[in-house]
Amino acid sequence: MLLTITTTHQPATDLGYLLHKHPERFQSFDLSCGRAFVFYPEASPERCTAALMLDIDPIKLVRKEGSSIAQYVNDRPYVASSFLSVAIAQVFSTALAGRCHHKPELPSTPLNLIAELAVLPCKQGYGFLRRLFEPLGYQVTATGHEKDEAFPQWGNSPYFTVQLEGFVPLQQLLEHLYVLIPVLDAQKHYWIGDEEVEKLLRRGESWLGTHPERERIARRYLKQQGYLVRNALTHLSEEENRDLDRVEEEKLEHPLSLNQQRLETVVATLKEAGVRKVLDLGCGEGKLLQKLLQEGSFTKIVGVDVSCRCLEIAKKRLKLDRLSPLQQERIQLLQGSLTYGDKRFKGYDGATVVEVIEHLAPSRLPAFEKVLFALARPKYIIITTPNREYNVKLKNLPTGKLRHPDHRFEWTPTEFQTWAKSVAERFGYEVQFKPIGESDSVVGAPTQMGFFLCQN
Ligand code: SAH
Repeated sequence: MLLTITTTHQPATDLGYLLHKHPERFQSFDLSCGRAFVFYPEASPERCTAALMLDIDPIKLVRKEGSSIAQYVNDRPYVASSFLSVAIAQVFSTALAGRCHHKPELPSTPLNLIAELAVLPCKQGYGFLRRLFEPLGYQVTATGHEKDEAFPQWGNSPYFTVQLEGFVPLQQLLEHLYVLIPVLDAQKHYWIGDEEVEKLLRRGESWLGTHPERERIARRYLKQQGYLVRNALTHLSEEENRDLDRVEEEKLEHPLSLNQQRLETVVATLKEAGVRKVLDLGCGEGKLLQKLLQEGSFTKIVGVDVSCRCLEIAKKRLKLDRLSPLQQERIQLLQGSLTYGDKRFKGYDGATVVEVIEHLAPSRLPAFEKVLFALARPKYIIITTPNREYNVKLKNLPTGKLRHPDHRFEWTPTEFQTWAKSVAERFGYEVQFKPIGESDSVVGAPTQMGFFLCQN
């Protein structure tokens, strides 16, 4: 079975530092279940792929487990299973621990990463694969392996070659694989006890608590052992509450942060325009939605985001489950993308897109413009985005860097205004601009806002 990890982060050969494996060497490792090999099919500054190949020794397994024909003839040598997690933990232990001696900041830096697994068992099908990996920010592509056409009675194959593409730190990718590969495989080769709960919580610490499928993940990882599953789930919900507390603490420490000023400006602008039904596109963790909910004048508030993980956090922040029926009527969260036409975006008199456009690939901007200005077409639209010229004032930001690793671009005021005026003209809107945050006499304010008013 084969796991490859590819990056186009530049220089791509940084992958060698991250994995602690030199791109020019072919290495092998003895494991209790067989041998693992690490090599690089490609290693250029533009693109680098590391391969972890696992050669399971069925005889070794049989010696450990007793003897029946099923132990000689089975899928173990060919599918990714808990053996692959063992290999990841042993062969890539430094990367999994988030350490990198040569470039200490790299393990926590999100990178463009593509993991390919050949093959992954998933009896529940493609939908389940997506429910596991998409909330973690991956695009999931899966190719099913057809069973022999001559034997239709065998049904569809439960085996897939799976590609996961995401912008995540390598350590996280390894943690996701470490936990979720055994979740997909019905078998487990070792004893399940408290130690497994501890591993699940440790490897899932930063992401499992807010994963929409966390219960199923815990149940399947712990092979349905009721007492262990309950134990794990209790710990996960405690973690979650601590996360929310941290957010509250930040708020106390920075009562008037830039983010607060931005949200207050957006709410005030919507109120002034008399907007009642608001669509918050790219709502993230729901900070703006929370403010809107506190204002009685908004009768319908809908948040949209592509990330299920963000929506889960938003759901908790807003305490959606505990709202009165009347309040629940007012607010709704939708999973969706800003770059695909969606009928659900129609019927609002105001839309907000706060600090989102810079996350879109520039080539997707025309699609976004059409979705928002032509199809959704609310009367008022507010778009905010960072002012790149202000970056020189941000002390902790190295020169030339963007404010967030996921930003595809940051615009100067001239660039933003040129784009906004062109959009307004093409779609029949009028646009006004407003700075947000403390303005500097040379570089202007940290955030720029465009306020669009539909002309018909
Ligand atoms: N508006 C929020 C979040 C900004 S971060 C705030 O001000 O706090 C950007 C958000 O845009 C993220 O939550 C991200 O998941 C979302 N996003 C990025 N691309 C998207 C797309 N194509 N469709 C929908 N949401 C997207």
